[in-house]
Amino acid sequence: MTDFSDLGLSQPILAALSAAGYSKPTPIQCQAIPPVLSGRDLCGIAQTGTGKTAAFALPMLQRLAANPRRPAPRTCRALVLSPTRELASQIADSFRAYGAGLPLSTAVVFGGVPIGRQRQQLARGVDVLVATPGRLLDLVDSQYLTLSSDQILVLDEADLMLDHGFIHALKRIVKLLPRPRQTLLFSATMPRPIEALAQDYLDDPVKVVVAPSATTADRIDQGVVFVSSDRKRDLLATLLRDPAFARVLVFSRTKHGADRVVRHLAVAGIEADAIHGNKSQPQRERALAAFRDGHARVLVATDIAARGIDVDGVSHVINFELPNVPEDYVHRIGRTARAGAAGIAIAFCSDEERLYLRDIEKLTRSSLRPIPAPAGFVRNVTASRPVGAAPPTKRVQPASAGPKSEPVRHPRQAPADADRRREGVVPGEALPAFLHRPPASGNNPGRRGGLGRHDTAAARYGGAR
Ligand code: AMP
Repeated sequence: MTDFSDLGLSQPILAALSAAGYSKPTPIQCQAIPPVLSGRDLCGIAQTGTGKTAAFALPMLQRLAANPRRPAPRTCRALVLSPTRELASQIADSFRAYGAGLPLSTAVVFGGVPIGRQRQQLARGVDVLVATPGRLLDLVDSQYLTLSSDQILVLDEADLMLDHGFIHALKRIVKLLPRPRQTLLFSATMPRPIEALAQDYLDDPVKVVVAPSATTADRIDQGVVFVSSDRKRDLLATLLRDPAFARVLVFSRTKHGADRVVRHLAVAGIEADAIHGNKSQPQRERALAAFRDGHARVLVATDIAARGIDVDGVSHVINFELPNVPEDYVHRIGRTARAGAAGIAIAFCSDEERLYLRDIEKLTRSSLRPIPAPAGFVRNVTASRPVGAAPPTKRVQPASAGPKSEPVRHPRQAPADADRRREGVVPGEALPAFLHRPPASGNNPGRRGGLGRHDTAAARYGGAR
């Protein structure tokens, strides 16, 4: 098996990796680091939680350190774009950790917080700038930043960055960047039309595909409970009373929906925080910090938390509502089973959502295991929406940092009989048993403190890969 030292990484970076407890590179790191080090453009596809950040950050840091010139005031030498503020902040932390032994500076800029400190940070110029597109353009427009000396551009969650909500900002940003430059695209999902679009941004790229686009992370047990919409909140409260739900991320489709779930859980005596686009940035940061450090057991989120967020030991992801964009499902459940750990993902599927479920199963090329609902939640199938009733066709805009893709139109067709039969006829495992599967070694929801997201994963990769 390859070691980090075989990949041509320098001593200070190897020392940082060892301090972070990483013993072996992951597959995306093995395949992406050498070409990025040699200056090639690259498009990298690998499952969620498999170390994509280090796959671009390590060789970038090394390249920047190999040519140690001071950045000019109000410029950056490398730019990483992220769709959400929380992910931007996390990526910047990773650059700081991996580059701890190098004389390189990292700054992060995103909206929702005062711009003054960000302007000050940029005044002397930075080596690595991690940004969300809107705030980046604000800084450019107000002339506190110029992008004319940027040498490397990274689009993390590239398919989302190239999609409708971000593409206009991205086009503007790319026009401001010099050529030639190195461009790196990474994601766990890459729909074909977006991949075609991506070619416009790449120059003779290396393509690294560790797993085909939208492959769900290894070691996630995925199940689906068929339950009517009006019973979902009670089912959720019933499940969450079980202490086996050590650290749970619950996804709803809308911001108001997330707030409603939190209120309902509070009435049921279960504490939960919400994170979504209607919350202030300090509220968002507090909610995520409390979830990360174990003070909050349950976090209810919109898709704002679906991409990239790396919280150690998420034991369960519950899709309280199924996403109507199937790629979002892959990212949502990817908040568990990270860095070689195991996790459980359970989807609550109402009749109205059956077509979403089919889209998800088609995209991921796998079937979610049907789990019979606990007693008291078994639906009266004949009383539910009649077969043939129109399914929802309009995409509900996810509450992430920006609007995204074109609506995914679901064909107006009835759920197949087979779908219906699944909930009653297919013998399933009982829900409590499914939810109590022992997590694989290394998934340690009780872990606290330490070096944050960089400290524990090594043991897992050592064992898992
Ligand atoms: P990422 O996909 O970049 O968010 O990384 C997922 C998790 O894996 C993070 O907690 C990283 O700290 C961790 N990680 C990344 N690379 C390695 C590695 N080579 N060995 C152990 N853990 C890693």
